[in-house]
Amino acid sequence: MMAGVLPQIDLMRCILCGRCVQACPTQAVEMLANGPTIVRPDACTYCTACEAICPVGAITCTFEIVWK
Ligand code: SF4
Ligand code: SF4
Repeated sequence: MMAGVLPQIDLMRCILCGRCVQACPTQAVEMLANGPTIVRPDACTYCTACEAICPVGAITCTFEIVWK
């Protein structure tokens, strides 16, 4: 993956449907108590499957820089 680049999750918009979790081919995103979270940043391939499947546009791959 590209270092420091991760999908952004807007928990205010998220309806907790879990589709992004199921769609992720590398289990990089998991459903935690507060909502979907990128729990394995290193596993994310930035495939954008989560963004494509989200019905409300809550998870987006916008090439923002995330500092860990
Ligand atoms: S971009 Fe792809 S690999 Fe990364 S969290 Fe979304 S579905 Fe998983
Ligand atoms: S697919 Fe979208 S609405 Fe559903 S859990 Fe993931 S981020 Fe939330």
